[in-house]
Order: sequence, then C-alpha cells, then structure tokens
Amino acid sequence: SKVLRWFDAHCQGSKQLAERACAVIPGGVQHNLSFNHPFPLAMSRADGPYLTDVDGNRYIDFLQAGGPTLLGSNPAAVREPVKALLDHCGPVTGLLHEYEVKLAELVCRHMPGVEMIRLLGSGTEAVMGAVRLARTVTRRQRVIKIGGAYHGWSDQLVYGMRLPKTGRMEATGIPRGATAHTQECLPNDPEALRRLLRWNRLRGGTAAVILEPLGPESGTRPVHRNFNAQVRALCDEFGALLIFDEVVTGFRAGMGGAQGYFGVTPDLTVLGKCLTGGYPMAGAIGGRRELMMSLVGGIGSTTRRAFVGGTLSANPLTCVAGYHALLETERTHAPAVAGRAGDRLRRGLDEIIQRRGLPYVAYNMGSVVHLQTSGVLLLDTSSLWKLIKVKAEAQRRKHMMEEMGAAYTAHGIVSVAGSRFYTSLADTDAVIDDALHRFDD
Ligand code: PLP
Repeated sequence: SKVLRWFDAHCQGSKQLAERACAVIPGGVQHNLSFNHPFPLAMSRADGPYLTDVDGNRYIDFLQAGGPTLLGSNPAAVREPVKALLDHCGPVTGLLHEYEVKLAELVCRHMPGVEMIRLLGSGTEAVMGAVRLARTVTRRQRVIKIGGAYHGWSDQLVYGMRLPKTGRMEATGIPRGATAHTQECLPNDPEALRRLLRWNRLRGGTAAVILEPLGPESGTRPVHRNFNAQVRALCDEFGALLIFDEVVTGFRAGMGGAQGYFGVTPDLTVLGKCLTGGYPMAGAIGGRRELMMSLVGGIGSTTRRAFVGGTLSANPLTCVAGYHALLETERTHAPAVAGRAGDRLRRGLDEIIQRRGLPYVAYNMGSVVHLQTSGVLLLDTSSLWKLIKVKAEAQRRKHMMEEMGAAYTAHGIVSVAGSRFYTSLADTDAVIDDALHRFDD
C-alpha cells in the first residue's frame, strides 16, 4: 500500500492518460511490456540510461523497451543520420536503397551463421519466415521448440507461453491444426530431443529445431553451457536445420550474437531488437547462402520458394538506423561494456540477497540480468517446469511481476515484468550503484 500511495501521489498525469487510453485502446496499452502495476506509466523523455514520465519522475531504464536500446536511449550517433535521411529521402521508397546493402554487409561480416540476410517487419515475422524457409528447404513439416520459449505470437509457435497479467497463457483463436506440426521439448534435455527426432524420423522427419540460445524466454530458464552444441550435433545427426532465435541476443551477446559467444553456428538466424537500435521495423532472417536463396523470386515467379514480404520491410529509415546503431555498437564495444554493467548489477543484487537473507536468486548472461523473487530457484530447470504447472507458482510469479515490479518502479527503476533487467552502454558504475541502493531500499 506504501507503493500504491507513491503512485497516487506522484503519477497523476500517467493515471489520467491511462484512463483515456482505456476508452480507445484494449486494456489501455498497445504493448505487453508497457503494463506497469497499478497502471501504465506514460513516458515523455528517453535519454541515455533514464526515462522520464509525464509527471517528471525519472527512472533508471532496465526495461530498455524490451531489449533493443543496448546503446542507451536515443544516442546521437543514430539519431543524427536518421534525421539527415528523413530530410532528403523520407522513410520509404519501396525500392532498393544504399543503406539496405550497407546494413546487410555489416551483419554478414559479424554473424558467423549469416551469409545473406532478409529484412522483415518484426521478430515474430522473421521467425515465421525462418520456419517457412526451413520447411521449404527440407521439404519436411515438423518444427521442435524448447518449452517455455517465446518466439513471437504466430499461431504455430505461441502456445505454451505465459505473459504478464495472464498467468498461464490462454492464447485463444488458434485453430488446433495450426500447431499440428509444432512439438516441444524441455530445455537441458538432449536425450528427450533425441527421442523426438528419432520418432519424427519414422514419420517424415524434422524440418527444424528452433531455440533461444540463452534458454527459453531468453534465459529466464537458463540452459547449460553445452546445450546449444548438443542440439547442433543432434540436428546434424537427424538432418534437421538449427534455427537460433537471436532476437534478444543478436548484438547484445556480442557482435557475433550468441552464436559467436557460444561458438555454435546455426543454419538460420532470426534477428530483431538491437538490429535497428530500437527503430522500427526490427526483424530479419539470416543464414547460409544456399538456404537463403530459397527466398528469391518476385511476384509471378514460378520457382519454388518460401514467400515472405512486407510493404515497409527494409525501408531506408530502418536501414540507416540499423547501420549506424551497429557501427556504434562495434565502435563502443557496447556488448562488453553493457555486459560488465550487468555483472556489476548481478554481483550487487547477490550481495543484497545474502546480507538480507532473502529467498531470491539473481543471475545474468552479460547485459541480461534476471532476478527471481518468486521463491523458486530456477537453475534446476526440470523441477521448475513441473512447478510452472502449479497454480501457487503462477500466483508467486504474479506477485513478482506486479507487486515487486511496482515496488521497483516506485523506487525509480523500470524492469521487464519485475524480473528481467537489461543493462546498456549508458549504465556507468554510478548508475548501477544508484540502482543497487534503490533495490536495497
Ligand atoms: N523471439 C524472441 C526471443 C523474443 O524475445 C521476441 C520478442 O520479445 C520475439 C521473438 C518477437 O519479436 P517481436 O516482438 O519483434 O515480434
């Protein structure tokens, strides 16, 4: 209630806007992550490590719009070339633009598994395209995902996901047939994956295994260091393509993404978020040349190909932003700098947890920091998996996302659902230490 009183006393502008929003926007928010308990906060300024709301409250931004702003908010190195492009070209021409090629060349230079790239509108679209491409190339239908993963909201992959405010996800409106060729396997269980691949081999085979290389829902349920390599070996053994969903890890885990970090090269890579430095539209499929060539063909083409498209895909605005965001990421060593900030944050959280004897756990992979306060140690992923099905666990997670998330906000910190904290290039030691004082409070 102390927290709720804080919101009432300090966030009237946000509250009024949220009430207006509820009349014309379902649930008052357009974006899953923008729902803050007790009501969404309306931001008016984003600058480096900080967000400022319409009431003038300043927050340390560990939400980072869900991950894309690795450079901190609104860096001049991206903003200025974007402004220049808008002055002389506008956002879209529908035809080839120099920055499209420059961005593609830059990504291909850095990502081990990317020889060619196709830009699309979002991570969700890129996942759909990658799965379609895998099915085209292998002429098989089944796709295996790792349980608990989030690969966007397409019909075929969304099931089994949970979202803030919903407990266990009830994604309605998905025809049963849409998931008929999607299978799930627990993280960290290569033997279960082998059994599934073997079962599929007798029934037409597996087109692809798709995974988030940090673990499902980008590391909330972490995988063992060698899990990705084990999946790679199994895909090779059974002739399935390996798709890395690097929407979170692409450029955040390093210029070579998680594939560079773990030294495991997938057949296809899905990118989003950091690819365009937070500018719309962030989504891309990358992969080996001979696979990617199955995307070739214009309207009216008679060759066999996986059709993907999008009116605004690869527009000049997206491409100029992406190119300069990635140049700046490379120049500043942003993945390493943000990763050190993540290490500092996790060490500080550990210290608070120990000193106060809290039943919490903090862990990180570079700039992706997790703080679980739901009383379950998540590192044993198979026992976690059983717990997720238990209602009490859903209630504990709701508490973490709502009450804890709101308490952080009232202390000047915004996060992803009260449990994930992205650090950025802008998070100096002073910013992290300030955040740690707030966590301690
Ligand atoms: N894949 C992963 C791992 C993600 O975290 C997300 C979004 O959070 C997506 C795919 C979907 O990307 P988008 O929100 O751009 O559609």
